Amino acid sequence: MTKPETILKAEDIHKSFGRLEVLKGISLEARNHDVISILGSSGSGKSTFLRCLNFLEIPTSGKVTVHGEEILVKNGKPQNVRHIEDIRSRLGMVFQQFNLWTHRTALENVMEGPVQVKREPNAEARDKAEALLKRVGLEDRMHMYPSQLSGGQQQRVAIARALAMEPDAILFDEPTSALDPELVGEVLKVMQSLAAEGRTMIVVTHEMGFAREVSSEVVFLHEGRIAEQGPPDEMFANPKTEVFERFISKVK
Ligand code: ADP
Ligand code: MG
Repeated sequence: MTKPETILKAEDIHKSFGRLEVLKGISLEARNHDVISILGSSGSGKSTFLRCLNFLEIPTSGKVTVHGEEILVKNGKPQNVRHIEDIRSRLGMVFQQFNLWTHRTALENVMEGPVQVKREPNAEARDKAEALLKRVGLEDRMHMYPSQLSGGQQQRVAIARALAMEPDAILFDEPTSALDPELVGEVLKVMQSLAAEGRTMIVVTHEMGFAREVSSEVVFLHEGRIAEQGPPDEMFANPKTEVFERFISKVK
């Protein structure tokens, strides 16, 4: 069998904030249907790395390729800026704090990208948004504003909003960390169903159950480098580094 196609490739990503080097050369490849969990202690560079993939942060150096379109960065300067918008539209992003538009209903939040960015006709975008909200279990909440929704419901709207752009891959940055414990499960369930559908996902998470059971690959970041990487079964059964062993003994 041939390997699934590469959706996203990051090569030797470095990022410094002033004199602080946060990412010290990170490379990662996501193939179609991969679910990659990124683990690591707070401050290890997980969010920065995710944000470098869609150029919410400009890496200091390195190369990002999405769907064959590459952006090489040298000295903080992207060489082919015109690809940035394209790469962004191909990568969905789900944030810890949902980042929904507070003055728009759930339905309007999901329609916004397709109408404004992709210029889809309103009726078409509405049909699609309704189907997606149904998909995440919110058919009876479509006309509510974010403030009328629980955290778990807001995060599901955010996931539907990402899906509406028909991304090649979805990046999640600790999607359940801001939720009350009893709401975590409903969001993980949606993410698990996306994985089962074959969606390509890169997920920064502290949910060890998700990392172990849902992901195809786990990446452990430590002080801006990949300290360990591999299939979850192997990694959790046989940590190769002391730092990862210590990490999993703390979070279990
Ligand atoms: P994680 O998501 O793993 O907790 P981050 O990527 O958010 O880690 O942060 C890694 C390091 O980079 C931290 O020391 C943080 O303070 C620093 N950092 C992140 N963003 C910025 C920024 N915009 N300016 C300065 N330092 C930053
Ligand atoms: Mg973070």
